[in-house]
Amino acid sequence: MIPDWSSERRRMVDRQLRKRGIHDPRVLDAMLRIPREEFVPPDSRICSYQDEPLHIGYGQTISQPYMIALMAELLELTGTETVLEVGAGCGYHAAVLAMLAARVITIELIPALARQAEQNLQRVLPGINVTVISGDGSQGWPEAAPYGGISVAAAAPDVPEPLLAQLADGGRLVIPVGARFDQELRVIRKTGSATEDRVATFCRFVPLRGSEGWH
Ligand code: SAH
Repeated sequence: MIPDWSSERRRMVDRQLRKRGIHDPRVLDAMLRIPREEFVPPDSRICSYQDEPLHIGYGQTISQPYMIALMAELLELTGTETVLEVGAGCGYHAAVLAMLAARVITIELIPALARQAEQNLQRVLPGINVTVISGDGSQGWPEAAPYGGISVAAAAPDVPEPLLAQLADGGRLVIPVGARFDQELRVIRKTGSATEDRVATFCRFVPLRGSEGWH
């Protein structure tokens, strides 16, 4: 039997997001609109709306829906921003961000995943305002900077300086930082030359690689 995906999606939004304190209506709406089942690999499809991360191949995972909604909410986007995502994976998180911003650039280190993200986004949401770049996003993507928001989907040993440098005035960087297997999800807001840094929660992400990541 084919699941009723839209009721699964509604249930996920109610039970996993609203009940746990996600309340930005734009984020909840984006989570209701993007079909997660179209992005995850076919053998994980049945688990699309479970409250857990899923394997997307190449040793990588897509976060649980709650973490994606929380990260999106923490960016406090208004719809006018250019947003950079580091770690496109299967493209789902970028699709959610695209509902909340003017433009999304997502950069992925593993070329096969970059192709997968691009294909998924064009198949599911043709013409969506997302550009997929294949490369090392730990350095950011200066070509489209400054960014009103930067969302990093892999855990860094430290906050990469190039990402801070590419934030717009008033922009926010949401990034897991810490040890290999447990990290803090940090929210860094830039105002002029000052930054304000806080910890939103504890988390566990796959490692950020590349020049500013784990070697
Ligand atoms: N946001 C994704 C899941 C990301 S998993 C989704 O919605 O599916 C983290 C991703 O970060 C992995 O695909 C991994 O290959 C990628 N990654 C790790 N280091 C990176 C780097 N330096 N630059 C770009 N991508 C990186």
